[in-house]
Amino acid sequence: MIALSIALLLLLVPLAVGSAALVCFGATGKPKHGPVGLLLHTLTEKSQPHCSYYSPVKFADLLAELSARNARFSTVHDASLLSPESDHSMSVVMTFDDGFESFYTSALPRLQKYGFKTTVFPVAGYLGQRSTWDTLPPQVHLTKEQVREIAALGHEIGSHTVTHANLTLLNDADLSNELSRSKSILEDITGKSVTSLSFPFGRWNQRVWQAARAAGYTAATSYAGGVGYQQGIVRLWGIYSFDSVDDVLERAVQRPRLSNSVTRGHVMPHFAKGTPLWKFRRNYEVMR
Ligand SMILES: [Zn+2]
Repeated sequence: MIALSIALLLLLVPLAVGSAALVCFGATGKPKHGPVGLLLHTLTEKSQPHCSYYSPVKFADLLAELSARNARFSTVHDASLLSPESDHSMSVVMTFDDGFESFYTSALPRLQKYGFKTTVFPVAGYLGQRSTWDTLPPQVHLTKEQVREIAALGHEIGSHTVTHANLTLLNDADLSNELSRSKSILEDITGKSVTSLSFPFGRWNQRVWQAARAAGYTAATSYAGGVGYQQGIVRLWGIYSFDSVDDVLERAVQRPRLSNSVTRGHVMPHFAKGTPLWKFRRNYEVMR
């Protein structure tokens, strides 16, 4: 009798946990809600006091593997135009937030080798400078000339605002300024329309998104775990230093394991920058 009870428990507990997980987090099989992409920041082999970076060697292996699987790369702008019912299973949206110099020196040559197109989101007020908005060691940003060249090669340039401000904390005038000024700075440099936006710190709400649309943006990115399908919003999985190529491929082909999807979508975005409280700081005064 005891053995039977234990056997029943062993059978039912995993089922119950699995059902609860599905209710809480949704199924993790083929996505039903539009494209999902990959978010990177810096490529470097040097160990950092955070995990928002990725090894150039692993990055090269990742691209080779995606090429072998006939992956189709799509910019955020193009992905946002696809129907949620489309088959996105081998469509890869790859983005680089912050516009650090390593995109030009390390990612771009490898991407060009395969003809893969990505979306880069520079912080428009930091071009040619070093980052100051976080407690992390300062990093060098792309110059205007590099941004112009990247755009000319067919990669999309989107906006990551002027100062990397938390947009949800700004008043209407400051919010509008961050959105419009960054757009016009980048358009002047590239000679192309800037219609995609990446929210600094991943912080946004419907007020911010409406202001972005009023400023002329038609697409934006958001961490995959934080949002369901919404027209114009492309959901991204963060890629971190500890991820293996297989981990990333699993997300690229959009079949993340449940443990992965919860950790990546809900937990890591809050800690990846190493400064969970910093994002709540009113930092708009920095570069006005
Ligand atoms: Zn950022």
